[in-house]
Amino acid sequence: MTLIDTHAHLESYARHGTLDAMLARARAAGVGAMISIGTSPEDWAPYRDLAAAHPGVVHYSVGLHPCSVEKNWAEAVAQMAGFWGRARPPGAPIGIAAGPGVPPCPVALGECGLDRFHLPKNDAAHAEEVFGWQRAAFSAQLALAKELGCPLVIHSRGAFRETVEMIDAAGVDWARVVFHCFSEGASEIAELNRRGGRGSFTGIITYKNADAVRAAMVGQGLARLMVETDAPWLAPVPHRGSPNEPAYVRHTAETAAQLFGLGLDEIAALTTVNARAFFGI
Ligand SMILES: [Zn+2]
Ligand SMILES: [Zn+2]
Repeated sequence: MTLIDTHAHLESYARHGTLDAMLARARAAGVGAMISIGTSPEDWAPYRDLAAAHPGVVHYSVGLHPCSVEKNWAEAVAQMAGFWGRARPPGAPIGIAAGPGVPPCPVALGECGLDRFHLPKNDAAHAEEVFGWQRAAFSAQLALAKELGCPLVIHSRGAFRETVEMIDAAGVDWARVVFHCFSEGASEIAELNRRGGRGSFTGIITYKNADAVRAAMVGQGLARLMVETDAPWLAPVPHRGSPNEPAYVRHTAETAAQLFGLGLDEIAALTTVNARAFFGI
């Protein structure tokens, strides 16, 4: 059995020197690969190094998270294209190193998007200013993703409608778009699916009060199903409240298996095929 954690942030494990132990626990739990998701210029190069050190096991993405967007967002976004390499011939596959000694490419652009939940409180004018920067940074990243033709990892919180509208307006290929940590309901995921997009699911589906998210997952079906941890956050039951890690994606997969009436092995096989096809890994 092999599972893929399609969305984790490995920065804290690298910083605390616990990365190797975490990777060993992941391996023991059947997690054969993971994607370390970039959020700001501080983690992009370290994640590229991790991917180079653990080929085929750790992949990475490059993106400016809406909660990392500041006034100087344009400087950050300007550094992103370099991770895909300037020498990439038009139409060449993304994520494949151009040769020996060449650092690996990101497997996706993101996470990027809009987040109204974490806007500054108690200062409406500043919150609107920050949200304006978020929109501008998202728009620039959508344009880059369109140019690169790469998978796109979307973070949307409290801004589903606006996020969908901006993706529509940018003209990116919806088949390459995933709303990670999908936490809306069945009608919202149907909107993504109608466009060719998809949502992926975290440990939230193991939480008691998450009926709407479970309904969204079942409504989307098996053909687009992918699982993720969003580690170190959102640990699934029975680890809720402690730091999350890629090994725990197994609990999310077990819950998905129950909901679809399948075995864990079948869900693992399906989600791994889906993740490999979506990210090209
Ligand atoms: Zn996110
Ligand atoms: Zn994340």
